[in-house]
Amino acid sequence: MKWAIFSDIHGNLEALEAVMRDMEITKPDKLYCMGDIVGYGTNSPECLEAVRALGCPVLRGNHDEEAALDRPVDNYSLPARAGMLLARKQLSHEQKAWLSSLPYTLELPGVTLVHASLHDPTEFIYILDALLATSHFEWQSKAYCFHGHTHVPVIWRHEDNELAQGLAARGVIELEANRHYNINVGSVGQPRDFDPRASYVIFEPEEHRIEYRRVEYPVEITQRKILLAGLPTATAARLAVGR
Ligand code: ZN
Repeated sequence: MKWAIFSDIHGNLEALEAVMRDMEITKPDKLYCMGDIVGYGTNSPECLEAVRALGCPVLRGNHDEEAALDRPVDNYSLPARAGMLLARKQLSHEQKAWLSSLPYTLELPGVTLVHASLHDPTEFIYILDALLATSHFEWQSKAYCFHGHTHVPVIWRHEDNELAQGLAARGVIELEANRHYNINVGSVGQPRDFDPRASYVIFEPEEHRIEYRRVEYPVEITQRKILLAGLPTATAARLAVGR
């Protein structure tokens, strides 16, 4: 049994299509999308429809939530804000209603999925270090939790009476059967680990095995669309360096 778990597409259709093509090679049995389909890029509606067409469970990200609402977004950075406001303009009422219906978490046998952290999933806390990962583990009862949100692939391993241990998230990783892990799958549409390729994960639950897939896509096409739409140049520039 193979699961494909992906997150943080952010209106980047070229990256999403490349990942979907890669799934013709990896051939997952089940797909799970952990949210932030929209925002930052120019193709929020197209990405929403492409994900919806997959017919897989989808979680709610903070950009999905903001794009569907009509409240101030002043506390976000300029690139985030500009992308949210563009998505608000582009998305239909029906698409916004669908985004608003998405759940914060998903419970599966032995696995929980969440966009950000199980330490209050509605607050979208960024698990940026071992301390924040440790506080997340207080809320994780199952062996595996998958998340996104930071756009940085990393595997956090729970340690008794110590801070969580961060493990390198590259290639194939064999997990220990009787430990707790919190796995960040990285981002499809805006990676931030200095590797510009789209990131997603293949998980084999019976084998306790994770594979990080990195997929090239035509970054220049996405960048050109972003600049033509009048979005901040930083939104385009970061895609080439993956930060
Ligand atoms: Zn995101």
